[in-house]
Amino acid sequence: MKKVELLFAEVALALPVNKNLDYEVLPPLQPSIRVGSRVLVPLEKRKTIGYVVELKKSSFIEGIKPIEAILDPFPLFSPADLNFFTWIASYYFYPLGGVIKNALPPGINVNSNRSLSLTPQGKEALNNKTLSQPEKYILLNLVSKRRVSLNTLTTSLKSDKTPPIILSLVQKGYVTMTRGESPRVVKPRKEKILQVKEEALSNLSLSDLKRLLSKAPRQFQVLKWLRREGKVTSAKVSSRWGRVGWIIKSLEIKKLIDISFQESYRRPLVSEKDGFVSPPVMTSEQANALKKIASQVKRGKYASFLLHGITGSGKTEVYLKAIETTIKSGRGAIVLIPEIALTPQFIARFRARFGNNIAQIHSGLSKGERFDEWRRIKNQEVQIVIGARSAIFAPLESIGIIVVDEEHDSAYKQDERICYNARDLALVRGKMNDAVVILGSATPTIETYYNTRIGKINYLHLSRRIDNRPLPRVVVLDMRHENPGAILSTRLKNALWQRWKRKEQTLLFLNRRGFSSFIMCRECGYVFRCPNCNVSLVYHRNKKLLLCHYCNFYKPAPKSCPKCRGYRVKTFGFGTERLEAEVHQLFPDLKVGRLDRDTTVKKNSLHHILGQFRRGETDLLIGTQMIAMGHDLPRVTLVGIIAADLSLNFPDFRAGERTFQLLTQVAGRSGRGQIPGEVIIQTYNPNHPSIRMATAQDFLPFYGEEILHRKELNYPPFHRLVNFRIVGNSHSRTYNYANLLGKLSMDLWEKERSFQDNIEILGPAEAPREKLKGKYRWQMLIKGQDHRVLHQFTEKVIVLIKPQIKISGVKLTVDIDPINLL
Ligand code: ADP
Ligand code: ZN
Repeated sequence: MKKVELLFAEVALALPVNKNLDYEVLPPLQPSIRVGSRVLVPLEKRKTIGYVVELKKSSFIEGIKPIEAILDPFPLFSPADLNFFTWIASYYFYPLGGVIKNALPPGINVNSNRSLSLTPQGKEALNNKTLSQPEKYILLNLVSKRRVSLNTLTTSLKSDKTPPIILSLVQKGYVTMTRGESPRVVKPRKEKILQVKEEALSNLSLSDLKRLLSKAPRQFQVLKWLRREGKVTSAKVSSRWGRVGWIIKSLEIKKLIDISFQESYRRPLVSEKDGFVSPPVMTSEQANALKKIASQVKRGKYASFLLHGITGSGKTEVYLKAIETTIKSGRGAIVLIPEIALTPQFIARFRARFGNNIAQIHSGLSKGERFDEWRRIKNQEVQIVIGARSAIFAPLESIGIIVVDEEHDSAYKQDERICYNARDLALVRGKMNDAVVILGSATPTIETYYNTRIGKINYLHLSRRIDNRPLPRVVVLDMRHENPGAILSTRLKNALWQRWKRKEQTLLFLNRRGFSSFIMCRECGYVFRCPNCNVSLVYHRNKKLLLCHYCNFYKPAPKSCPKCRGYRVKTFGFGTERLEAEVHQLFPDLKVGRLDRDTTVKKNSLHHILGQFRRGETDLLIGTQMIAMGHDLPRVTLVGIIAADLSLNFPDFRAGERTFQLLTQVAGRSGRGQIPGEVIIQTYNPNHPSIRMATAQDFLPFYGEEILHRKELNYPPFHRLVNFRIVGNSHSRTYNYANLLGKLSMDLWEKERSFQDNIEILGPAEAPREKLKGKYRWQMLIKGQDHRVLHQFTEKVIVLIKPQIKISGVKLTVDIDPINLL
């Protein structure tokens, strides 16, 4: 007789339970279970989903329970992926199960739901006359079914009184509620396939056909077409014939066609126009950079590069070629870009080169599309993944290269749940997979550039624009010499008019949307503020609303002051909407487009507005930082930067760096075609280093100055940071929690010499944005010279504060290497 082998699995739970648990694997499941399997396991009185992270022959846990089911026919991640996830869990202090769940497409993850069923008492009560109308309705809904999900019921009832009514029914014992988790909400799509039944057709008599032709000519036509096409998807039928469901139905009833189903992928928009194009001949700088990258790719070992190339120097071409080399060597590529939806041109260039060998991952896709793109990668049907930060988790089996375009962009940082930075994770995953990592930027972060100086990252430079096009000439205009309150300086107005006359294009950059920046009563000084965020509300004239840019709170634009009832309510400052109005007044015939969050609400509107501008249907494009993204607009010869000072005054040590980056990127949109460009920067701080140095568009002097500040003030790259963010509904509780955290941390700090030598605690203090979306915010910033000590200290603080987390309505987020300190 065969001996039964004992087998146990360590399972990371998908709920934020900060522990992995052991379960037994019973013999029937043993042949199919793997590391990476998703399983259903019992946890206390319920069932939950977890991921197998280890298989072992023994376990020391008593009363161990068995795994109930394996949920997928294949493991969802590989042992190499698991290494990566484990690193993330430990570095960012996040439960492993949560990390894994986050890495999988949302459609595949657990859906916690509650369902209701009728009890025998409930059935009896239905005949009872004391039920209210809604109660009766709910019970009737349950009568014929064994179980109905709470979601379905509440949405079908469409009343916010439903939950309390259900609760009272549960209390009366008429209804039971069970919690459960349904494993998968997105299913592979099945596509309908139509095909003419040839033998049925040949059995038709001539008179049958004649009758069909005379009585149902459309049916006849569709049938003829179907026959010519062979196998056709129903999507194709409707795109050719419109809505012909009833025709298909009657053909099916007459047994003239066959209908079958076939699994298919939902594909995000693929432009028809993206034909293959032949790549340009590389410049010597490009060729040199590529040579160094390619030789590392061929070696198949980890290497990292900063590709520092000024705007318009052809970085993308280097990525494309490097990826080509990687694909030839049989390995794949992950390409990260900050916001995929804002850079359709970038994708188009990849499609033109690699066709369908690309999958996209970003939040703009539907759940179904995301799930299918994930499956295409997992099934090894594509080798290139392009996406926003979450694409760093793509289940690509053999990674040869990872590209992070615009590595300086803060969109790579997530600052809730797992506070990871995808740029940093690219380096980690690259190292684990023996892959080459390229970080590209015209304005690299101080940290990344510093890493090239100390030899951690190889440095590659593209110092010239393609065809040796000159960088634009930059003029700084001191707005203190202009008319007070003027939006456009005389010089910029003239320059704008000249471009228009010469049929060249202009970009005007203003990083604030809306009409005015705030609105105030001239009589009593009352300023309209957001009740949730305590910031001034922005007036949007087109919508006739006052709007909060942080939480979207809005109210109708007022005619009078709510405090003194005076009528002298005035707008102050300006945003893109006002700039557009101003330009229209000055040059009524100029065709103007505007690109900001207000004009791009509709899907594809960004595509549309940029397209109009590129085709020359508009002469001027006004926009927020959306226009700073790497758009290639060759006919732009003038860039005007209105209010360059906007980002300077944030209480954040990176304010200067961010301003420099933004100004340099925006300026770089000028003069990318044949005609040299000009940039006019309007500012009230012409002598500020970030503005002075953005004028030269020269990174090195800026770096030289900035790195001194960082050193002096113990900021990155010299020290690392951890930010404990405390957010709560009540002011006093949030304050109490922060205080407690501060005290615990100080006690800990005083106990150990290595902490005192290495660690500096700032705060706890109110965050610069002390109230946001109705929540009170505090923070405690920790600086550490030795990152191991900092990690240790952070871990100890977390362990100590854990029992205190019971303060209800207050949440702690530990942000490692924080970017957003506001
Ligand atoms: P960057 O990303 O560095 O700002 P791009 O990669 O967008 O620059 O390149 C700018 C423009 O120059 C693009 O239109 C690109 O197609 C073109 N380009 C890139 N490399 C070459 C080359 N070697 N020869 C000619 N044109 C090129
Ligand atoms: Zn608000």
